[in-house]
Amino acid sequence: MNDQSPDWDFYTKHGLSPVINVNGTMTGLGASRAIPEAVAATAEIMPHFVDMHELQSQASKVIQDLTGAEAGFVSASAAAGLSMTIAGCMTGLDVARAEQLPSISGVKYLVPVQMGHLCHYGAAIQQAITLTGATCVIVGQSTQVLDHQLAAALNENVAAAVYVVSHHVVEFGQIPLRRFCEICHAADVPVIVDAASEYDLRRFLEDGADLVLYSGHKFLSGPTSGIVAGRTDLVKAAYIQNLGIGRGMKVGKESIFGVMAALNAWKMRDHDAIRSREAEALSMWLRAVQNFDGVTATIHPDVTHNPLDRLKVAVDPKIAGASAAAIGWALSQHTPPIIVRDHEVELGYIQLDPCSMAPGQAPVVAKALDEAFKRAAAGRLSEPDLNELRNQGIRTYVEWS
Ligand SMILES: *Cc1c(COP(=O)(O)O)cnc(C)c1O
Repeated sequence: MNDQSPDWDFYTKHGLSPVINVNGTMTGLGASRAIPEAVAATAEIMPHFVDMHELQSQASKVIQDLTGAEAGFVSASAAAGLSMTIAGCMTGLDVARAEQLPSISGVKYLVPVQMGHLCHYGAAIQQAITLTGATCVIVGQSTQVLDHQLAAALNENVAAAVYVVSHHVVEFGQIPLRRFCEICHAADVPVIVDAASEYDLRRFLEDGADLVLYSGHKFLSGPTSGIVAGRTDLVKAAYIQNLGIGRGMKVGKESIFGVMAALNAWKMRDHDAIRSREAEALSMWLRAVQNFDGVTATIHPDVTHNPLDRLKVAVDPKIAGASAAAIGWALSQHTPPIIVRDHEVELGYIQLDPCSMAPGQAPVVAKALDEAFKRAAAGRLSEPDLNELRNQGIRTYVEWS
């Protein structure tokens, strides 16, 4: 462990296990390290009563300022925002209808989504849609969707169409957002964009989205929260779901105030300084692995154009002595565990993302990489059963005490 890191005392004091996150923003690891502005804001508001509508109306102003949207509000999470906006597109501003959900009598209830967009961010996107009572209509096939297929799905029972921007969706063969919006708008269907993990707060609305959702606890490094931004009528329709299915997704004053602070800080954030710190970590890791036989390390920009790079470490198991999966698994067994991006590990690589790392952790990761590849070269790394590992990830939800 590294003395420079301010984190370790915290873990010892509270009996929690430290972990080094070189994966990105992960719900299972606590999403992100909140920035001081957000921490201070959440603490400041906690002892006070406030008029929650007044607070949300202030949040709306901040959201308007950063996104260019007509209006916005803060939800419990982006996933909650997705359910609430779908529900809003079903009920409009009719409170009685909001109270009747998930019964769909008398409301539009169909929600088309491109098949390649049906991803899993810890839960399935379909479920965030269908728990409103809506039915998800799958458009096209996983690797190809054509305009006429979307157009054919848009009938009078369609409440809204959902478009997902994420590294979890299929990266090719999908209808681009602008075109998706044109087709939907021609049929008078609003478009909801799930951009939970995207840094660009303006582009999706500019491309025609009627509503867009962001996470407050991912790149913004705020408290657990979601941001709903878009057309005033639809934002309000989503907001009235607080009287219905949104009640179990209640957002607290601390999350609203905290994410407002995170949004304001986002404007001031020194992105260049952050990127150059991240670049240092990437080149340190590149140097740590590049001389091992069978390893090809390259720096890659983010696939959805977020301003961040990752180190892709491709491993030829026949030469390196172990697969990328074995390296990822070995790092997860390090003390403290090092969690890498391994969701595409069957393709022969892991990725290292410096954006969520705490200070002082980059050298720990470099040393662990060196050790793992040395063990691989010496034939001392065993191959994990990938399918078993993934299934085990689910069992941890049941087997805890
Ligand atoms: C993370 C993520 C979500 C969920 O965001 P939360 O704010 O944690 O609910 C939804 N969609 C996508 C594409 C995501 O990446």
